[in-house]
Parts: sequence; C-alpha cells; structure tokens
Amino acid sequence: MSNTCPICFEDLVKKNRATPDICDHIFCFPCLEKWSKHGSYCPVDRKRFRRIVNLDSETVIQGTWKVILKAL
Ligand SMILES: [Zn+2]
Ligand SMILES: [Zn+2]
Repeated sequence: MSNTCPICFEDLVKKNRATPDICDHIFCFPCLEKWSKHGSYCPVDRKRFRRIVNLDSETVIQGTWKVILKAL
C-alpha cells in the first residue's frame, strides 16, 4: 500500500488520514474533504461514497459533510 496521498502526493505518515467508506484508499483528511465538495466519489477508483471515515480521530463525515462522532 502506498504511503502517499493520491491527491497531493505528500507523505501520509504525519497527516490526519481519511478513507471513503466504500474502499481502502487512504488520503489526507483535508484533501478528501475538499475533494468531496466537487464530487462524492473516490479520486482513485471513482466509486461513489456516502461517508468519509477519519482514521485518526474516529469521526465520520456524512452526506451533509458535517463531522459526527462514530457510534460507539
Ligand atoms: Zn493529500
Ligand atoms: Zn478508492
């Protein structure tokens, strides 16, 4: 698996990472959030997603793109 963000090509190790709910591609959270305003699909495989999972803070972003707490 690549350790760079497919959007900005920066190293993901020190970033807040996020992934669409329908695949395992990993992006910087700010990149994917920005991307989702243009279209709710994965920038790599173009599958449509409904949610963005923030891998580092356990939050999920849904259709309205508000950050909500993942159900415990
Ligand atoms: Zn990025
Ligand atoms: Zn993907």
